[in-house]
Amino acid sequence: MENYSILIPSYTVGPEAYQEIPRYAGLYGTKAVVIGGQKAMAAAKNKLLSALEESGLSITDFVLYGKDSTYEAARALENLAVVKEADMIFAVGGGKAIDTAKLVSLSMKKPYFSFPTIASNCAAASSLSIVYNEDGTFRAFVHFLESARHVFIDTDIIARAPKEYLFAGIGDTYAKYYEVSVSARGESLSHYKALGVHMSRMCMETLLAHGEQALKDNAAGKATYELEQAALAIIITTGWVSMLVARDHTMDYNGGVAHALFYSLCELPGFDETHIHGVVVGFGCLLLLLIDGQREEYEKLRAFNQKIGLPTSLKDMGITVSDVEKVADRITRDEDLEHYPYRVTKEMILQAARELE
Ligand SMILES: [Zn+2]
Repeated sequence: MENYSILIPSYTVGPEAYQEIPRYAGLYGTKAVVIGGQKAMAAAKNKLLSALEESGLSITDFVLYGKDSTYEAARALENLAVVKEADMIFAVGGGKAIDTAKLVSLSMKKPYFSFPTIASNCAAASSLSIVYNEDGTFRAFVHFLESARHVFIDTDIIARAPKEYLFAGIGDTYAKYYEVSVSARGESLSHYKALGVHMSRMCMETLLAHGEQALKDNAAGKATYELEQAALAIIITTGWVSMLVARDHTMDYNGGVAHALFYSLCELPGFDETHIHGVVVGFGCLLLLLIDGQREEYEKLRAFNQKIGLPTSLKDMGITVSDVEKVADRITRDEDLEHYPYRVTKEMILQAARELE
């Protein structure tokens, strides 16, 4: 038997979550550099600065991450003196800014803390970075051994973000449950894998229970209990699940038909620019459930999607069966389907797509 460690990022959540920064980040030095998105940094800047007043910890600069999560953007950041001199990195923003900051943290061996300013994905709490090419096409998944030292979720900032982000985050998050539960079906699970697989159910249940109200509260700019529950499901539960079920890289239960559909459709010209990841993945779960024969769950999710306005048909998505046909082979070969309990065939995909037309 080998020795191993499980590192799950701790978090602070609430309307004044940043007040806890000195307590956790102060352990790692005195100089932090912020790497983030433009809007995200504008939303968080004053609160970050005021939280660090008289703490002995200071922010040396606020640096724009770039335009996309790419190796090129990360290398450019690594060459900045202010990044070289920092003791730690504060990753502020949505998925792409945080993923870029993670690449910098990994290659420079500097600890990072994450500050999600939208509730749209689990980048802040996961140990994975999704890397794109400069032309916007998908390039690689980069797996880390360590994740953020702590995640700070300011619910006031999240409540004031455009609700489109939360909307997309809902689809990507409930997908975690559908994909993980199918990928791990029939497996004998060790402690941490079982934790991840069982916890994944909360990615779906929390959002089906609180998602609709959370969207309304987000639209009104109010940091309510429902919005906090939804944000925690999207950022924390999903991040923890994704780490636990992927820690053993030879048996990664993350991903499935919904993500394979998204990454495959991205090979169609213009698709990535006009479609949001979480919205496509949320729709992709309907395809997953039809292929998997989970009729009752399909009806339940379809009704939920309809209620909150997520797509329920290919038409809603602006694509046709022939578009799906073009990428069907690519879907069957996607690495997200490597650990599926059965082989997903082109015919299964097309049959489900015709039903979703
Ligand atoms: Zn996703």
